[in-house]
Amino acid sequence: MAKVVLEDLIKEYRGDSKEPFRAVKKINLEIRDREFMVLVGPSGCGKSTSLRMIAGLEEITDGTISIGDRVVNNVLPKDRDIAMVFQNYALYPHMTVFDNMAFGLKLMKYPKAEIKKRVDDAADILGLQTMLDRKPKALSGGQRQRVAVGRAIVRKPKVFLFDEPLSNLDAKMRVQMRTEISKLHARLNATMIYVTHDQVEAMTMGDRICVMKDGNIMQVDEPLGLYNTPKNMFVAGFIGSPPMNFFHGRLEADGNALKFIEDNDGKPGFTVKLDDRLSRLGQSYAGKEIVFGVRPEDIADALSVSNPNPDSTISAKVEVSEPMGSETYIYLDTGGHSFTARVHSDHKFDIDESLKVCFDLEKAHLFDPKTENVIS
Ligand code: ATP
Repeated sequence: MAKVVLEDLIKEYRGDSKEPFRAVKKINLEIRDREFMVLVGPSGCGKSTSLRMIAGLEEITDGTISIGDRVVNNVLPKDRDIAMVFQNYALYPHMTVFDNMAFGLKLMKYPKAEIKKRVDDAADILGLQTMLDRKPKALSGGQRQRVAVGRAIVRKPKVFLFDEPLSNLDAKMRVQMRTEISKLHARLNATMIYVTHDQVEAMTMGDRICVMKDGNIMQVDEPLGLYNTPKNMFVAGFIGSPPMNFFHGRLEADGNALKFIEDNDGKPGFTVKLDDRLSRLGQSYAGKEIVFGVRPEDIADALSVSNPNPDSTISAKVEVSEPMGSETYIYLDTGGHSFTARVHSDHKFDIDESLKVCFDLEKAHLFDPKTENVIS
């Protein structure tokens, strides 16, 4: 069993100022045996610090880290049964690919035959057989990254830790390595913890994703769980591209239902009559401020919808249109408030064109403007 458990984990850095800086704020997280867990969040959210504490490269300020039911707070990195793959590969330039991969095992005094077998096996898995005699400078970025992964594989660790391993690769190679690491996970059946700031990487690779912000965990869930049922505005805005649109306004009674009135710096903007589900959710917010959230793909050009709901149709003006191939992102304006729609590319949109768009209310969300939590 190689589950990894973080309990009340805190990291404080003490700089020149009197007050220590808390980079990780008492987080709790259980990474299951053989799970691929992605830690994702914007720069500075504490994801690398958390990973480095698991690796033992960073002292913890408080809390407990267990790997496979053993508390490792005071266990040296080399004795934690983990292997880490870094962003900069950290290969030795003067050594061949073989020696780079074998290095750790040699240090641990493994027999030569065992080292050769393990390196050959890893080279097989990673397609590096023909490159074992080369030095790193004779490899492409993607191949170097594979050597770095190979060096982790040969140790047969219980847990693999990846710190933004693909960020130095070009876009095409990143997509390819993404798939390779996912396949590797299926093949090795090991626990993997993967840090990235890229939400697409997180969504495509993670069994589950832990979204972090300012040293806190904002939500842990499977990719589609995060996408469809975000717990707060941060997760709703961070996962998904282009991000979810947030409209600030207030709710008012409209017969048995509620209507949302967008508020544009004190000027009432568009009005949308909410469906039963949203009216029920928003009941206790009647007369109060609220945030209405809709993903760009849940906004359609009303002309392209066979039966647009008139209660959820609003007028907008096209500011920018970005054809992406099969779909187009249109940046729209409703009286001073910009928002984005993601629509099929079967129609060309002109700048300043007036458009009627409708919201798919079944997929819309309501948020409390103060706590920024979803209303559920
Ligand atoms: P990035 O994607 O930019 O690497 P991150 O989410 O991995 O960001 P961390 O590297 O974990 O963030 O850093 C979290 C916070 O702790 C940041 O505000 C950072 O400036 C701070 N920090 C990290 N290392 C140190 C250090 N050695 N001393 C002081 N502060 C630090």
